[in-house]
Amino acid sequence: MLGNAEVDFILKRNPRSKRLYFYVDDIGLKVSVPLRTSDTLLNRELNRHSAWILRKMADWNAQRSDNLVWQHDTALRYLGNSIKLKLIPMQRETSAELVAEELMLPIADANDSRSIQSRVETWYRKAAHDWFQQRVTHFSGLHQVKVNRVCLSNAKTSWGNCSSDGIIRITWRLIQAPHHLVDYVIAHEVSHLKEMNHSKRFWQVVHSIYPDYVKARLELNKTYRRYLLI
Ligand SMILES: [Zn+2]
Repeated sequence: MLGNAEVDFILKRNPRSKRLYFYVDDIGLKVSVPLRTSDTLLNRELNRHSAWILRKMADWNAQRSDNLVWQHDTALRYLGNSIKLKLIPMQRETSAELVAEELMLPIADANDSRSIQSRVETWYRKAAHDWFQQRVTHFSGLHQVKVNRVCLSNAKTSWGNCSSDGIIRITWRLIQAPHHLVDYVIAHEVSHLKEMNHSKRFWQVVHSIYPDYVKARLELNKTYRRYLLI
């Protein structure tokens, strides 16, 4: 509880950290603390900074996708490029289609922003699934590992995960990121089929199919908010 609000947060215990840090972004509150930090101290600090935290969270909420205006010419992202939503007034609502840099969406009621959003999301999911499937095939071929299924998740807090039964889940939102970052996430998840951890060996496995992984990881950490707007 912070003030009167119930606030979830992600807690990270960082052995190298000497003090507590609070970060707020569109995913929510993250707290990084030194390894041995008592709950009492943590709660006291959270309360001490509660006004700041709540204000930051309110700022982020104001920019959330719920506030993205779903209308003709709304700018969206697709594989790192900016595309424009074009609403085509039409009774028969066939699927959206990307033509050059324009996403054509036949729609009966151009003022129904909910329906626009959900149909654009449907298009994103289909595009994401097709693209991710191809890239998984590519990277799993390089490692000669078998992926049983590629699934889409709706996550906003992680790009993907991989289970030992060969199922890779990736958030459809990642399709908004540039090719090379999508490739990094997929190479990372596919590499987990060889090493189910984040050990030094794991990163060597990643390196063998995606040599520039350090750069990509940094870039993704810096820019990820852009790909979570929707
Ligand atoms: Zn991982």
